[in-house]
Order: sequence, then C-alpha cells, then structure tokens
Amino acid sequence: MDWIEEELRKLREMGLYRELRSLSTPQGKKIVVNGREFLNFSSNDYLGLAKNYSCECFKQWGAGSGASRLVCGNFKIHEKLENRLAELKKTESSLLFSSGYMANVGVISTLAKEGDLILSDELNHASLIDGCRLSKARKIVYPHCDTETLELILSKERKKHRHCFIVTDTVFSMDGDIAPLEKLFRLKDEYDAVLILDDAHGTGVIGWSTLDLFGLKPDEKTIIIGTLGKALGTFGAFVCGTNTLSEYLINRCRTFIFTTSLPPAIVCQTLKNIEKVPEKMKRLQKNINFFKELTGISSQSAIFPLLVETPEEAVKLSQKLYQNGFFVPAIRPPTVKQSRLRITLTSEHTEEEMKLLWNTIKNHLPG
Ligand SMILES: *Cc1c(COP(=O)(O)O)cnc(C)c1O
Repeated sequence: MDWIEEELRKLREMGLYRELRSLSTPQGKKIVVNGREFLNFSSNDYLGLAKNYSCECFKQWGAGSGASRLVCGNFKIHEKLENRLAELKKTESSLLFSSGYMANVGVISTLAKEGDLILSDELNHASLIDGCRLSKARKIVYPHCDTETLELILSKERKKHRHCFIVTDTVFSMDGDIAPLEKLFRLKDEYDAVLILDDAHGTGVIGWSTLDLFGLKPDEKTIIIGTLGKALGTFGAFVCGTNTLSEYLINRCRTFIFTTSLPPAIVCQTLKNIEKVPEKMKRLQKNINFFKELTGISSQSAIFPLLVETPEEAVKLSQKLYQNGFFVPAIRPPTVKQSRLRITLTSEHTEEEMKLLWNTIKNHLPG
C-alpha cells in the first residue's frame, strides 16, 4: 500500500495535511490541548451547552438505545423531543436522525429520484453534496447565493423534470453568510419546487429557525434540517416538515431505518438544553455585534472567516495563535476554495477575550 504513503507525502508538501489534536477537558471556551490551556475560538458549541449534563437523564433512560427506531429503539423521549423541535421550527412534524450528515444524505437521496432535478448552492455542506451524489436525480450546482442564475436555470430546465428540489445551507458553514431565503422561498412557489434548508448553523444562533429572521413560515414544500451537535450542545439531528414527510422517511429513508437510534440520555439532555437557549442566544447576539464592530469582518452569524492567500499562510497564522494560547484552526482546500481562519464566537466569550484575540491576530497578519 505504498501509494497511500505517497499521497500523504504529497498532502504534507502542499500544506494540506490534517491531523487530530486531543482535548483533555470538556468542550468549552477554555480547553486543554496537549497539556496547555487555550482560549477556544473554533467550536460550534455556540451557546456553551456541550459540557452540560444531567445525571437524571442517564438514570432514567440509560446511555444505550439498543436498536433502531423501527425495531425497539423508539423511546417516549424521542417523540417528546421531536414534538418540541417541530414546535420550534413551526412545522407539523419532525424526525430525529443520528447525525446531520446522515439526515442530509438520507433526505435528499430518498426524495430526489431519477427524472427529478436538484439545484444546489456551490458552497453547500459536504453532507448535502453527498446526498446529491447518492441521488439518481439530475444535479445542477448554481453559483453561491446567485438567485438570478438559479431562476434562469429553473425557467429553462424545470419543465423537463418531474420533481424539483432547491437545496441550500441557511447559514453557510465556512463563510457565515445567510442564503437569500426570501427569494428562494418565492422561487420554490413560482417553479413548484421543494426547498430543502440545512439550518445547522442557524438553529439557536440566528433564532430558533433562520426563517424567523425573514418572517417566513415553512409550508408543505419546505423541509428544514437542523443539528443537535452545534448550538443545542448534544448530538444528532432532525428533519422538519409535514407529517407525510416523516411518515415517508420512516418507511423509505435508509439512514433513518438502518442505524441505531439516538441514545435516550442524549435526547433527554437536549430537551434540558433547549430551555437554556433563549437567554444564551441573546448573549451570543451581543458578542456577534461586538466582534463585527471590532474586526470589520462581515458576517451575519457566529462564524467569522478571516481569509488569507495560501494554505501555508493559514497554517502559519493558526500556529502563531496557537503559540499565543488561542485555538483557531486553519481551514484549507478541499474544505474551502480559499484558505482561512474560521473564527467562531460563543455566548460565553467576554469582550476582553475577543479583543485579546483580535490584537494577537493583527500582530501576526502578513503585510
Ligand atoms: C455540521 C454540519 C452538518 C453535519 O451535522 P452533524 O450532526 O455534525 O453530522 C450538516 N450540515 C452543516 C451545514 C453542518 O455545518
């Protein structure tokens, strides 16, 4: 298997080599990595809820679920959380999945079949892309947030296909910008399409749902996917839509059917975390506004991209920050086209800590 080593060598040469770093503390704004304490600006634990736990949840439900939902792994607590999530997202129904990756791959490949058309934003998350790849539908990738081009494609191609799906992140995970949801909502209606929204970075950050920001309410042709592993601080994901959608996914979606259901203790903890969200979300919003003013980086979410020229530059800057006690890993191709530091804020950071980070970055920016 020499070719594997050869490929790894090339990755190192190109500054694209990745390696794991291990934490010896729970997730939080302060973490210990390799025996050193860091101020963490890289986590998706936007509300600082990941380290929350309640022994009660384990005592009542146990850690393991023992089977898939359809066998004997469907607990009352799963259904309670699903009802709560549907309520928060303003949909009829919601269905839990074991991860956002599996939800996205499953939903798209289950709904979009041969003869259908998928229109996908070029900066969509890898799991949406993989869902498209797994589907036998025709796929067209449209330029990032470019609704004019999207409409052009729809007007030319829509009629040639049976069903049509517009697929997009709500908050884009590497740039922190928000999709033009108002326009997408209108296009869905005009061209009789289904709108699939991945609200992973919007849920609990922008609001309960990013649609709320636009005063939009999901209808029967809107599907919202959210994750529990980010702002909600636990693990897993959910798909919100109509009762019929849930019913269909339970019967047809392979990433729902053929996997062990979420640990009930985690589901129980998620319900507890949800109670803490409103107050924490306010604090996060305050931090986002403060950091925007401080840095001039444009972002509409808790994700602030600091773009640099080359992968090497990103790695170097990240290393400098690391030496100074800040944890801000570099994001490089193939995850993104343009290398960057991806700074994420949480409700737990103080203004002092944000200033400290920014001063250190300014001291080490090239040029
Ligand atoms: C994190 C993420 C996912 C995957 O969710 P997991 O629960 O971590 O598998 C899907 N979509 C987007 C936009 C994400 O950022």
